[in-house]
Amino acid sequence: MGPLSTPPFPTMTFHVVGAGVAGLAGALLLVKSGHRVTIHEASPAAGGRARALPDGTDNGTHALLGANRVALRFLTAIGAREGWVEPEPEGLPVLDLDDHSARRVALSPLGWITAAKRPNGMSMGGLGSLIGLALPGADRTIAQAFAAHPDLLRSLVEPLTVAALNTPADEASAKLLGVILRRLAMPGAAKLYVASRGLGPDLVAPAVATLACHGASLQAGARLRGIGRDGDKAITLDFGDHVVDLAPEDQVILALPPWEVARLLPEVPVPDRHAPILNVHFAQETDGPVRFIGLLGGLAQWVLVRPEGVSVTVSAADDSVGLSDEEAAARIWPEVREAAIRFDLPGDWPVDPPRARAVRERRATPRHGTGPRPRPRRMPLANLALAGDWTLPELPATIEAAIRSGEAAAAALMATPLPKETA
Ligand SMILES: Cc1cc2nc3c(=O)[nH]c(=O)nc-3n(C[C@H](O)[C@H](O)[C@H](O)COP(=O)(O)OP(=O)(O)OC[C@H]3O[C@@H](n4cnc5c(N)ncnc54)[C@H](O)[C@@H]3O)c2cc1C
Repeated sequence: MGPLSTPPFPTMTFHVVGAGVAGLAGALLLVKSGHRVTIHEASPAAGGRARALPDGTDNGTHALLGANRVALRFLTAIGAREGWVEPEPEGLPVLDLDDHSARRVALSPLGWITAAKRPNGMSMGGLGSLIGLALPGADRTIAQAFAAHPDLLRSLVEPLTVAALNTPADEASAKLLGVILRRLAMPGAAKLYVASRGLGPDLVAPAVATLACHGASLQAGARLRGIGRDGDKAITLDFGDHVVDLAPEDQVILALPPWEVARLLPEVPVPDRHAPILNVHFAQETDGPVRFIGLLGGLAQWVLVRPEGVSVTVSAADDSVGLSDEEAAARIWPEVREAAIRFDLPGDWPVDPPRARAVRERRATPRHGTGPRPRPRRMPLANLALAGDWTLPELPATIEAAIRSGEAAAAALMATPLPKETA
């Protein structure tokens, strides 16, 4: 990414409010274009919904796909691409806890040429329904779209829906899953990557360091409480203990979750229904490489095994987010243990759960149902652009959408074309 524009005013400052990946990506495009940037973040540290907790644990496992080209390009730009590894290049190990069968499944239609890597229930009719998701027509739920293919729904479509849309299959939009499946059909698009050491060292810290190298300043612990306006311009940013008076040439990116934007700019349409994700982190050290295992028929859906611990994800966790740490660990550990033994993971896998800690993200993402999704204007004010995973309703709310939105907000304020992949 080279400089895209010459700053028209040497004193012009871009204020980026919110240091989640959307804000960080918008800030990066701005500083690389030669602009002065100040980032204001309410929490003590950057990262937002993709962050390391104070003890270094990820708030939740984050996976990227080869199809997430803009996110992978962002990782390269911050020097973090090598930290994201492909744990299962031979196909995803999947354990079915109902019949205890274990196999590897390809995530990509290209991989299904090999019969052994096809998901259960894959038939010509099922393939037709998958292709049908990508075709124009009225939206319906995933459960409706696959009512005639219950085995395929259970073995592939539902786990993919819950992972990518964080919404149960009887509610999730078939059209939105179609967007993902279209992208997965490209060569390399279905490769799955995870942060080998964690979101801190493999995402947030390198992004913040790169921004600092380019002169951006990050003000942590600064929660935006109000925006002063004059007509269609923002003129002040009120952080409670201090107020930033915006110069006429200053610009703002609001890279905040929808509920914060609703509070600050009530006229902006925002999604108001969210879905939780429960992550349980077990203090189970292992010697082997990073592994990633899918589970069917249990409470746990994905198991990430790294040397320093085992992290388990339960997406669309409406029914389980209220479990105590002990209850969650007691229910999930036997599932993890069975998977570890079936896939020959190194080390001892005791019957009793190791020390565990649950992290509950109650508003992890908007719900991706079949109804219309609010589409805010990128620039609701003349000098203020919105960013955030929810501002691109044609995509699921993910890191990819967040980064694209941050770059789109920065480009809109600079009035320059977007970088090639983002456009
Ligand atoms: C547990 C979990 C697992 C996930 N798994 C995946 C995955 O596998 N793959 C994937 O691609 N995506 C995943 N996601 C989604 C992904 O994390 C989000 O899409 C992305 O992080 C959103 O980034 P954002 O910058 O749009 O918003 P946020 O991360 O919410 O950033 C907003 C920032 O604004 C700050 N803020 C809020 N209010 C104020 C205020 N008033 N003033 C100043 N700052 C404020 C917040 O502290 C935060 O840092 C997951 C999310 C969760 C929670």
